[in-house]
Amino acid sequence: MRTHKLKIPYSEQLERLNASSASVWGECLSLKNSWDYAHGYSTGGSLDYECELWMDKQLSKPQPLHSQSIQHVRWRFFKNRKSFRELRKNGDKRAKPPYREKAFQTTTWKKQAIRFRNDLLGKKLSLSNGRGNKPLVVSLPKEFDIKYAESHIALVELVYDKGQYCLHFVYNVVKPVKSKLEGIVGVDIGEIHPMVSHDGVITNLFNGRYIRSLYRLRNKVIASFGKKIDRCERHSQRWWHLVKRKWKRIKKIDNQIMDGLHKHTTKLVKLCELRGIGTIVLGDLTGIRENINYGKRANQKLHQWAFGKITQLITYKANALGIKVEVIDESYTSQTCPHCVNRKKPTNRNYACKCGFTYHRDGVGAINIRQKYLGCLGVPVAAAMAPPVGIRLEGRCCSA
Ligand SMILES: [Zn+2]
Repeated sequence: MRTHKLKIPYSEQLERLNASSASVWGECLSLKNSWDYAHGYSTGGSLDYECELWMDKQLSKPQPLHSQSIQHVRWRFFKNRKSFRELRKNGDKRAKPPYREKAFQTTTWKKQAIRFRNDLLGKKLSLSNGRGNKPLVVSLPKEFDIKYAESHIALVELVYDKGQYCLHFVYNVVKPVKSKLEGIVGVDIGEIHPMVSHDGVITNLFNGRYIRSLYRLRNKVIASFGKKIDRCERHSQRWWHLVKRKWKRIKKIDNQIMDGLHKHTTKLVKLCELRGIGTIVLGDLTGIRENINYGKRANQKLHQWAFGKITQLITYKANALGIKVEVIDESYTSQTCPHCVNRKKPTNRNYACKCGFTYHRDGVGAINIRQKYLGCLGVPVAAAMAPPVGIRLEGRCCSA
């Protein structure tokens, strides 16, 4: 499964659709209650199946939704109950079955209800809401790949998230055949450079200036709002106003950071595919080696968050192409000289060994992570090292 998101502008129709889905949910709740009343209250799972069949036959209030969209809500209701039972079984006493009425809920369309169009007016998506009801028609961006969508689409969901309506396109993805490629690339994830990769020949430095500037901006926003918020009375009107504005700002910056991480990781994985890499080796990030300027705890948290995200992004993007991702313990990988295997802590951005070997410090990390994976950390690397090639985020500038 793969999900693609598309923001769409607000309209009353969207709100009505998700309200209708919520009322189907409410109907499930009340039907379940009457079923329980008739069959005795039980949280056991065996009755749920019968209840679902029974519910299916009940006449539902007419809803402006496709029959499969209605079915999907019911399915989700029982899936929720199932996961509640599993939580209880595993000792979570606070787990509750679905019990609350909702005002809005995600609407789901299945394949039969989804139509793509490409005509003079541009690319369009039409989502059927059953006979006699107005379908939801959405304009798609120019670059939208209709051919791919038509052959792979499984579901379309209308999701409301923090003031924004989004369509989630869920695609069926055929698992790619495991690649038989031999190449191995070591990747060092750091603070100055979010990623540095080495594949035995080429070292790539992924520039981190843009992302770092966003970190700084984020800290600045937190600090300046913090001062203002502290001056207000807690929970006062102005306090709420400032808190809301602060989080809106931060959310935007976080999105920009995410965008940068996405671009870098996509580029890395694409380069790997191009160069016939079969395995990407990442250093284990649980113990962070060197602190550059953690200064504040907030800073550190942010770094760790980005580390985790980079690992996650590389993993799923590589796996989608059939490239294996391995995580290894990265101790000593930043200190060992690739030429003479001496250990020495680098003191600045350049690693300089007494044997005369000098190289970019993070590049050394990537080389050694690769060596370690091969079981060769401690074996001198014979090949001469080409200077690292930088990769920058394109078409971006940051306003601080
Ligand atoms: Zn050396």
